[in-house]
Amino acid sequence: LRSSLRPYGTSIFTAMSQQAARQQAVNLAQGAPDFGPPAALLAAADEAVRRGGHQYSMSIGVPALRQAIAADLLRRYRRQVDPETEVTVTAGASEAIWCAALGLLEPGDEAIVLEPCYEQYPPAVTAAGATVRYVPCDFPEFRLDPERLVEAFNPRTRLVFLNTPWNPAGRVLREPELTLIGELAEKYDAYLVADETYEHLTFDGVAHLPVAEVAACRDRTVTISSVSKTFSATGWRVGWAVAPPALTAALRAVKQFVTFAPATPLQLATAVMVTDAPASGYYELLRAQYAQRRAVLRDYLQRTPLTLADNEGTFFLLGRCADDDVEYCTELIHSRGVAAIPASRFYADPQRGRGLVRFAFCKRLDTLRLAGDRLTAGG
Ligand code: GLN
Repeated sequence: LRSSLRPYGTSIFTAMSQQAARQQAVNLAQGAPDFGPPAALLAAADEAVRRGGHQYSMSIGVPALRQAIAADLLRRYRRQVDPETEVTVTAGASEAIWCAALGLLEPGDEAIVLEPCYEQYPPAVTAAGATVRYVPCDFPEFRLDPERLVEAFNPRTRLVFLNTPWNPAGRVLREPELTLIGELAEKYDAYLVADETYEHLTFDGVAHLPVAEVAACRDRTVTISSVSKTFSATGWRVGWAVAPPALTAALRAVKQFVTFAPATPLQLATAVMVTDAPASGYYELLRAQYAQRRAVLRDYLQRTPLTLADNEGTFFLLGRCADDDVEYCTELIHSRGVAAIPASRFYADPQRGRGLVRFAFCKRLDTLRLAGDRLTAGG
């Protein structure tokens, strides 16, 4: 293994899912639904497969999907983007994250990452030959400390990774925070990579604010999303990146040599779904179903000794135990038959996130109840 990537070890999602399978535990670790995508998406996929489209698409993605994404942004935010020069289809949000890092970072650059962070950002930065500079945010509020942020920026800063709604913190970033980040980025001529994979999963009236909708961020942001969470199809590996033409050109330059393009029929089916979902009430239904799943799991977790953080978005609940979270999660699998993620793994210094445990609620209600009964059995 390339020595610079060695510190990242095995993905915690792979490690915990393997342990869960071995012990036949209920898997609330990996953020993958145990229910299928909406019927309309499956019907569109059937149709696309029947009609052809079995060869490579354009590397930047099928026109129908790029146009559907542009139309969706226009409808939701009155934001105008050009599907030819500003929208790129990728193999999941993951490929977009890597292409942004490899396309925009030079060796010797720095990228700022807010902690706790999704485990993919640091290795992507490292692979580009750049260095990660962490801005730690602490349980349970995960407030962004302006001083820490200001300190992190310097003339070598080239990228800032943002994730809103934020996995695993469960927070939604607000306008003043994003304005500060945007202004600092402008001062140092840095770009923002906004991973907005959970854009449709916000609760209790909290609205998702796209980073690119904030004036200070607009011209320097790569916005990333995907079908994975919105359409419960994490295995499809269809995502996209929307960015001003110069940034788009940089990530496309990498992308053509990575996957070239994701599966054509799945891109075509996604285009149909993105176009039809708003009028069918799909997004409201998705949010209502997730609010119910969250309520069920939270009710159980509140009966355990864990202290819970608030959740405004994503499909994760984060709690803190009094012990070491890695030991806690190992014990949970073996004695309770429930798998969760030891969330100190989302910090460069695990001491900072000691005791944090992440539970995914992207599961059927009966799965959540089974896990909950196991978590609370015996008082
Ligand atoms: N994004 C999901 C999570 O945070 C799954 C990631 C993965 O399995 N690679 O759980």
